[in-house]
Amino acid sequence: MDTLNFNLTRLIELAQVEYKKQFSSTVSFERAVFFSWGCTIGDCAFCYMSTQPPDKPLRETKRSHASILAEFLLAKHLGWDIGFFTGGIGVLKPEELEFLLKAIIEIINDKLWLSVGPLSKPLLERYKPYLKGVVGSTETINSKLHKMVCPSKPLVPYERMFEFAQQMGFQKAMTFIVGLGEMKEDLVLLIDFIKKYQIDKIHVYGLIPEKGTWYEKAAIPSQEDQAWWIAQLRIHFPTLDIQCGVWEDRVERIAFLLQAGANSISKFKALKLFGTKRAAEIEKQVLAAGRVFKGTLTEIPDVNWDAEVQKLSFSNELKERIKEKLGLYLEGMKKNQKKKTCPTMGAVLV
Ligand code: SF4
Repeated sequence: MDTLNFNLTRLIELAQVEYKKQFSSTVSFERAVFFSWGCTIGDCAFCYMSTQPPDKPLRETKRSHASILAEFLLAKHLGWDIGFFTGGIGVLKPEELEFLLKAIIEIINDKLWLSVGPLSKPLLERYKPYLKGVVGSTETINSKLHKMVCPSKPLVPYERMFEFAQQMGFQKAMTFIVGLGEMKEDLVLLIDFIKKYQIDKIHVYGLIPEKGTWYEKAAIPSQEDQAWWIAQLRIHFPTLDIQCGVWEDRVERIAFLLQAGANSISKFKALKLFGTKRAAEIEKQVLAAGRVFKGTLTEIPDVNWDAEVQKLSFSNELKERIKEKLGLYLEGMKKNQKKKTCPTMGAVLV
């Protein structure tokens, strides 16, 4: 069906029909867990990492193992799905990444999606026991635009990774950022790409005009722009797993994006903003879309965190550090909850 010129209302109607045929009403929050804030590529035009001094040692951008593992433990008990485990390309050596993958699957009791740049066949073999799929941070499929936006991160190595992944039985996911300068006509390219590499899942983000980047003064894509791409993808690929990536300034668009055919929500800074009014709005938006939110962004579950850490097979030293990190995260989350509610009247203040 040629849907390019359909208006958005019609697209959303069609997308909803397809969504309801294939999926339940459940919506999960998908957490992307980062292991670093640095990257050896560092020049993608939209990315915060392109604003970092090029001589900043990569080690300084790495999170501690305890902090990463504490976040996975929290995500598990808060009912979040793991969107992917990610960080700057070239930051972790394979031994360290493998150690973390092993530890993470012990915590979440599930395999992971991994997004660490294009992986070679031998590395895919090495990580196979821990992974359900690989994510290519493709960002845009328009080759001219891609060259401009990601000058040192070409698409071809990701395409090769998807081919290996297909041969080896991995699932495949990709990212797409609305607002980089794509045109609606690029839909054909995106459809062809998804078909060619048999993509199972796509994260549809909206541009965040990061300070100091080439896009600093660019317009934030509207909810209609982001919904247009989601609805088109849902109509053309009824079973594709589609995430709507939403930053904290755009949570009011979630109901609209879900109605356009998104399965779940990603990108929101869920730990930092846990229990805030922004987080509560996400849960409200899911309800407004007629869907059911799995897990929580606002209520801390009653868990014996120390006992949960103690069960793990890690060294005592690592377990103690995880407990410390968990304590810090939980303290911040409780503070957010207190700020949100007036102690005497129970009213929402922020
Ligand atoms: S490769 Fe990824 S992390 Fe590195 S600069 Fe590009 S977008 Fe940012």
